[in-house]
This record gives sequence, structure tokens and C-alpha cells, in this order.
Amino acid sequence: MVEGLSHLLILQDRDLRLLRIERELAAAPQEEAQIAARLKQQLTRYEQLKTNARQLEADRKQLELEASTKQSLLERYRNQQMQTKKNDEYQALTNEIERTGREISEIEDRQLELMERQEAAARELEAEKALVESAEKQAALRRADVQKKIAAFTTDLAGLKQEIAALEAAAAPLLLSRYRRLLASKKDAVIVPITGETSCSGCHMKLTQQTILTARGGHELASCENCGRIVYWPGSIV
Ligand SMILES: [Zn+2]
Repeated sequence: MVEGLSHLLILQDRDLRLLRIERELAAAPQEEAQIAARLKQQLTRYEQLKTNARQLEADRKQLELEASTKQSLLERYRNQQMQTKKNDEYQALTNEIERTGREISEIEDRQLELMERQEAAARELEAEKALVESAEKQAALRRADVQKKIAAFTTDLAGLKQEIAALEAAAAPLLLSRYRRLLASKKDAVIVPITGETSCSGCHMKLTQQTILTARGGHELASCENCGRIVYWPGSIV
């Protein structure tokens, strides 16, 4: 293997680890936003169900009021009927009493239907409440995970940067600058082994015979003609 390359492979390993950590750290705020958004969705649904339950309760009170109004009306008609001596008035009141009675029984039907809807709504609300509670717990756990990850990565980052600086100081300057340029453009491994004795393991394209021979020789740097990565013969690593 070309002199200094195995040293750069160690540096590359640390650099790739650094890149991975930086990516994870950059993704953390988005992860937290996702957690918050999911929880908010759950809470919104719960609030909707609560509003629905409140509306049903208001409807129930309204119906109660209607029923008691009709009931008073009915009482009044009955009293009037008892007091009247006129036949036609008596008949008219009988009609009113019957009509009001029908209206009351309609209201009672609606009250029954409403009661069923209220029971269903209460069950739904109860189930949703349990979901919200578990979502809150889960969100808290996931947030803690993200925070733990950030803390661990931040610690790793400091050590890693130090290690990278030391490895850079000990690297061959020309080779290092070429490697740095490649890494900056690929943001991925740029010193890669030849796979299957024929291909660049970075871009998976076949290498020319000349490149393979150069890599096997181990005296000069060999580069993939397709992607520009530095390739080496895997057996040559020490
Ligand atoms: Zn390649």
C-alpha cells in the first residue's frame, strides 16, 4: 500500500464517524419537532372530542328546557279544560293537549337518542384520554432519548475532533490535502478498497487494468476513473 495511506484510513474512519455524528446532531431538532407535532395531533383530536361532548351536553339541557316548557303548557291546557264550560273550547283544548303530548313524546325520543350519543361520546373521550396519556409518556421518553443522544454525541465530538487533529498533524501533507478535497466533495468514504478484484467499492464501476495494477503495486496512488476516489488493493493493507 502507498505509504501514508493506512494512516489516512484511520483518519477517514474518524472523519466518517464525525460526519455521522454531525448529521445526527443536525437531525435532532427535526426529530424533536416531529415528536411535538405528533403529540399535538393527538391533543387536537382529544380537544375536538371534548368540544363534541360539551355540545351534546348543551343539546341535552336545551331539550330538557323544551320538554319542561311543553310540560307546563300541557298542565295549563288541562287546567283550562277543567275550567271551561264551552264545548267547542273544550274540544279545541283537547286537540292542543294531544298535539302537545305528541310533541313531548318526540322530545323524549330525541332525549333518548341524545343520551345514547352522549354515552358513546363519553366512551370515546375516555379512550382518547388514555391515548393522549400514553402519547405524552412516549413523547417524553423519545425526547429524553434525543437529549441523551445529543449529550453523548457532543461528548464524542470533542474527543473525535482532538483525535482527528492529531492524525492530521501526523499525515503526509500532499496526500492529506488531496484526501480532504475528496472528502469535502463526497461526504463519504473516499479511500476505498477494490472489490471483486475489479471494481471501485465507492461507485461500483469497473476500474481499468492500469488502475488495478497501480493499486496492486502499492507505490503510487490509484484513483477510480469514474468517481475520483483513491482505491487500494485490499490485501495490501497492513
Ligand atoms: Zn469509483
